[in-house]
Amino acid sequence: MTQKNPSLKELSPNVKQIIETLKTGNGRFVIGMRVSNITDTRRQELLAGQHPQVSLLCCSDSRVPPELIFDRGLGEIFVVRTAGNVVDDIALGSLEYGAEHLVTPLLLVLGHTRCGAVTAAYQSPDMPGHLKKIMEEIKPAIELSSTSVRGKKEDLVSVAIKQNVNRMVKIIPERSEILQHLIGKGKLVIIGAVYHMETGEVEFLR
Ligand SMILES: [Zn+2]
Repeated sequence: MTQKNPSLKELSPNVKQIIETLKTGNGRFVIGMRVSNITDTRRQELLAGQHPQVSLLCCSDSRVPPELIFDRGLGEIFVVRTAGNVVDDIALGSLEYGAEHLVTPLLLVLGHTRCGAVTAAYQSPDMPGHLKKIMEEIKPAIELSSTSVRGKKEDLVSVAIKQNVNRMVKIIPERSEILQHLIGKGKLVIIGAVYHMETGEVEFLR
C-alpha cells in the first residue's frame, strides 16, 4: 500500500526548516539579492563529500535553474532534471540515490509556468523518437485538466502543469519501493511546487 505523505502540520521540524530555507532563498532570488556560496573555499570543502538537504526533480528548461531560483550554493541540492519533470527508471534511481544514500529528508518536485513540455503534450502529443515517452508521461495530467477546465488553452496548460507535479508526487513512491519505504519510516517527504517564471516566485503546493 502506498504510504501517504504527512500534511504540512505534521512535517518534522527539520523538513519545515529546509522548506523555510528554500523559501527564504527564493525570496532573495526574486529581489536580486543572491548570497549563495560558490566560492573556491566551499568547492574545496566539498571534496570530502556531499551532504545536500534536498533532492529535487525539475524541468530541464534553461530558464528554471534550481540552485539560482532557491539561491543555494555548491553541494546543497541533489538535482534530477528531465523535460516536463517526469520520471523514468533512471531518474527514479537518481532520486533513490539522493534519498537513501545522501539521506535527503525532502524530495521536491518543481514544475514551472509556461512549460514547453506540458504545452507540447497538449498541442502536439505525437512526437517522434524518445520525446514520445515524455509526452505519454505528461498525458494523464492533460486529460485530468481537460475534464476540470473549460476555457482558454493557457488556463488548461497552467492547471495541467500543477496536475503534472501532483501526479509525480503521487506516482514516485508508487513506482519506487525504496522511496515508499523511506516515506513509511518518516525519513522522506515528497512535496510539489511550481516556479512562476513571471515573478520568480516558487509556489509550494501544500
Ligand atoms: Zn518545462
